[in-house]
Amino acid sequence: DTIGANLDRAVATWPDREVLVDVASGRRWTYRAFAADVDELAYALLASGIAKGDRVGIWAINCPEWVLVQYATARIGAIMVNINPAYRTHEVEYVLNQAGISLLFASLSHKSSDYRAMIEQVRGRCPKLRETVFIGDPSWEALIARGTPAPFEDLSCDDPINIQYTSGTTGFPKGATLSHHNILNNGYFVGESIAYDERDRICVPVPFYHCFGMVMGNLAATSHGACIVIPAPSFDPTATLQAVQQERCTSLYGVPTMFIAELNLPDFASYDLSSLRTGIMAGSPCPVEVMKRVVAEMHMAEVSICYGMTETSPVSLQTRRDDDLEHRTGTVGRVLPHIEVKIVDPATGVTRPRGTAGELCTRGYSVMLGYWNEPERTAEAIDAGRWMHTGDLATMRDDGYVEIVGRIKDMIIRGGENIYPREIEEFLYGHPKIADVQVVGVPHERYGEEVLACVIPRDAADPPTLEDLRAFCDGQLAHYKIPSRLRTLDAFPMTVSGKVRKVELRERYAAAD
Ligand code: ATP
Ligand code: MG
Repeated sequence: DTIGANLDRAVATWPDREVLVDVASGRRWTYRAFAADVDELAYALLASGIAKGDRVGIWAINCPEWVLVQYATARIGAIMVNINPAYRTHEVEYVLNQAGISLLFASLSHKSSDYRAMIEQVRGRCPKLRETVFIGDPSWEALIARGTPAPFEDLSCDDPINIQYTSGTTGFPKGATLSHHNILNNGYFVGESIAYDERDRICVPVPFYHCFGMVMGNLAATSHGACIVIPAPSFDPTATLQAVQQERCTSLYGVPTMFIAELNLPDFASYDLSSLRTGIMAGSPCPVEVMKRVVAEMHMAEVSICYGMTETSPVSLQTRRDDDLEHRTGTVGRVLPHIEVKIVDPATGVTRPRGTAGELCTRGYSVMLGYWNEPERTAEAIDAGRWMHTGDLATMRDDGYVEIVGRIKDMIIRGGENIYPREIEEFLYGHPKIADVQVVGVPHERYGEEVLACVIPRDAADPPTLEDLRAFCDGQLAHYKIPSRLRTLDAFPMTVSGKVRKVELRERYAAAD
C-alpha cells in the first residue's frame, strides 16, 4: 500500500474515532476530519507547483501540522525531508541544499529559536528554495487557499517519499531515503507486536522529525485506528504525565532518558497513570532497572523495547506483549516478520555462532533505498547481498532473542581488553547516589584507553566519589572494567532524539584530570 491508500482505508473503517489530539492547543481531529485536512493541504501543495519526487522540508517542533504535512506529502508522492528542529543556520542551509528542498514548512519560533529569522539569513544561499510556509502564521492559510480539489496521481509504494536524517550520535547525520513500503510496513508491524487497535491512545513526547515519532508513532497509530496524543511541542516530563492522565493514554513512548526524567519527578506519585497498558522504550540501551520501574510504577505491564535505526525504517527487533519480564528487560526481543538478521565477525563478515558477539546485520523490506545523493556511503552501509551493516554489536541467544552489546564505535579497548560501556552502566545504575550514568573510554598513556564514568548524582549536594564507585564495583566487576576516572555533571550532551552524545563526552574529557 501507499500511505495515502492506507489512510483512505483507515477513514473508511474508523471515520469518527479520534486520530490526533494536541494537548497544548486543545485541537482534536477524527479520522474523517484529519483526512479532509490532509487532502486540502495536498491540493495546496499541487497548486504551488509541488509534484511527485519534489522535496518538501519540515523544520518544526511537534505540532498537529507536522502530521498533516507528513500525510499530505505522501498523498502526492512528494519527498518529505525531516529537519531536526535543533538545527541552526549552518546545518539547515546544508540540508536545504543537500536535499534540494523547494518548499519548506517551519515553526515560527520555539523557546529561544526564531526559525523565521534563521531562514532569512540562509535564504540567499539556497537557490532551490522557492517558498517557506510558517506554521501558525498567515502564510499557512495563504497556502491552503490556493488549492482546488483534483484527482491524485497514482503512486507506487516503492517510490521514495521521505528523507530522514540519522540522529548524529556518532558524527554528522546521514539522510536515509525511504519509500512508502519501507516505513508504512514498519509502522504496521510495530503496531501489530503491541496489538494496537482503535481503543489505543498513544502519548508521543518524542520528536516527529525522528523515525521513533513519525513511524512508530504516527504510522503505527493510523494503520491500526489508534490516536496520536501530542503532550507538548518538545519533551517536558510534567506535560507528558499530565497528558497521559488527561487523555487516558494507553501507550507511552520515550527514549530511556525521558522515562528516567518522568520517574524522577518529585510529584511522580500524584499522576494517575492507570490507563496505560503498554508503550515503547527505544533508541539507546534500555537499562533493566529503568524497565522494571516502568513496568511496576507506570502500569506499563506490556511495555516493549524496540531496536532499530533510521536506515531500516527503523525497527528490526522488538519484544512482544507476551514475553516474560526477563526477556522484556534483558533483550531487544526477536526479529519482526519479513526481516532477517545475522551476526557477523566485523572483520571477515563470517556469521558468528549463537551466543557470540558480532556486528548485527539486517535485511528485508525495511532497508532504506540508500543515503540521499551519497552512493559511496550507501555502498559502505549496504553490501551486495542487500544486508545493512548496523555498526552495533549484538549477541543472539539460543532462543532467538537478541542482546545489544553496544556500538562498535563506543567500545573501549583498555590494555587489549574489550570493554562494553553498557555493562558497566547497567551495574552503576544500581548505586544509590547515581541518577544517570554514561561510561566512555578516554585516552591513557599506558593502557591506550581508560574507563571514565560520567555521573548525574541523585543529590547534587552529595555526589558519589571515585572511591565510592570503586568500592561498589570491587569484587563485582573485573578490575579492568572498574572506572578509574569520574566526572559529575548536571546533564549529558544530547541529540534532539534524546540520545547521549558519547562522542562529545569523550572529546570533552579526553585530557587527564
Ligand atoms: P548516527 O548514525 O548519525 O551516528 P544514530 O545511529 O544514533 O546516529 P539513529 O538511526 O537514530 O541514529 O539510531 C540508531 C542507533 O540507535 C542504532 O544503531 C543503535 O546504536 C541505537 N539503538 C536503537 N535502539 C536501541 C536499543 N533498543 N538498544 C540499544 N541501542 C539502540
Ligand atoms: Mg547510526
